[in-house]
Amino acid sequence: MHDRLAADLTDLSRLLDLTRERSLAVLGGLAERPVIRPDWLVQPSALPDRGCGLEAALAEFTEKWEPGLSASAGPRYLGFVTGGATPAALAGDWLTSAADQNANSSFENTGQELERQTVAWLRELFGLSTAQDGAFVSGATMSNTVGLAIAREWVGERRGVSVSEQGLAALGPVTVLSGAAHSSVSKALSVLGLGRDALVSVPTLDGREAVDVAALERELSEAGGPCIVVANAGTVNTVDFDDLGAIARLRGRYDFWLHVDAAFGAFAALSPEHAHLVQALDAADSVCVDLHKWLNVPYDSAVQFTRRRDLQTRVFQNAAAYLGPLGETPDLVHLTPENSHRLRALATWFTLRAYGRDGHREIVERCVNGARVFGAAVTANPALRLLAPVRLNVVCFTLAEDPRPDRLAAVIREVSDEVFFTPTVYRGVPALRAAFSNWRTEPEDVQRAVDSLNKAVSTAR
Ligand SMILES: *Cc1c(COP(=O)(O)O)cnc(C)c1O
Repeated sequence: MHDRLAADLTDLSRLLDLTRERSLAVLGGLAERPVIRPDWLVQPSALPDRGCGLEAALAEFTEKWEPGLSASAGPRYLGFVTGGATPAALAGDWLTSAADQNANSSFENTGQELERQTVAWLRELFGLSTAQDGAFVSGATMSNTVGLAIAREWVGERRGVSVSEQGLAALGPVTVLSGAAHSSVSKALSVLGLGRDALVSVPTLDGREAVDVAALERELSEAGGPCIVVANAGTVNTVDFDDLGAIARLRGRYDFWLHVDAAFGAFAALSPEHAHLVQALDAADSVCVDLHKWLNVPYDSAVQFTRRRDLQTRVFQNAAAYLGPLGETPDLVHLTPENSHRLRALATWFTLRAYGRDGHREIVERCVNGARVFGAAVTANPALRLLAPVRLNVVCFTLAEDPRPDRLAAVIREVSDEVFFTPTVYRGVPALRAAFSNWRTEPEDVQRAVDSLNKAVSTAR
């Protein structure tokens, strides 16, 4: 063994203690460090021939790189829809690396059994029936991609073609209908060979991001054959929800696959006040839910569900002599684009075991309250304009006067020590979004974000 490796192995206990202390320092600094550091730059260095060992590498990372990282694990990073990591999720993630399992086959069944049981908990958490089978993937983009790959196979089935065997050329064009689809849906269509142009934007309701179901029905009748509908359960700008029940009922008259992108909106199921928004989620043929957002497990984690596991294994099966047959409960290697993958489910298992449905409901409701308070503060400031009602956990707002992108960028910079918002464009208006999804965000943090924003806009030129 190389002498550096041997030395680190001998000293492993002390070195992991140092790493633990560093982790605690990172977490302890979240409340005070700048929320984003857009100007931090590290000069590239040559690939080391002789390494310096873990302790010196840790010191170099701490000095050169760590200060430039954003406080995205912390309570006032309100960009995108980013969660942090609960204590139990963090512990699960550490143990995932320590155990370093390849959780994909029955040779080492315990890992994939843990994933299956965790998927069953998630299914229950989101009110889905046992007709929905699930698997872990790396994020909602991948979950949408897997769902749409199964949808593509289904369109093939309807047309008497096996896309997984014969390829796309045998399938021909496919229409994908959606109101306000997330950008990752276009990316998925590009990856899947259906093409970004396959996506037809269906009009949304007046002043809303929810699809106009009557307009959707017109598109379906024009499509004339089997197609794919992507329903949105929580749009990123205004967290608007399509009427999932009404869309599902259209299947009595039209032939389509219903994929629901519920990346973070699925968590509405945890709040009695909002659960009706996703009550019909189970009617979907495939469902996307992100976990590294509102479940507050570390990146990279999401789940995808589908009612057609048979089509899923047709697409993703990895036939190899040393892998088992598909059978009733196929090995996880046959379900997603990845073959080898880490025991990604463990962080989710830990946080659900440690805090339960109740603990996660408290996180969801506290975030929703934070968004309400923040939204009320935006409304109260005449220099700001709320662009949509606060429906769940995101506040979409802009400057009341002259909301140019450069003026909004100046606001983001001005508040960056205290809080981070993401820029967006909503109905043609440049805007900002404050998303509340971190388990650490307390009322004091909401107040600090409000104070910082009010101060920045009072000096904005
Ligand atoms: C975040 C998000 C995605 C993409 O998620 P990633 O985890 O970044 O891949 C897709 N759809 C919606 C609605 C989202 O909010």
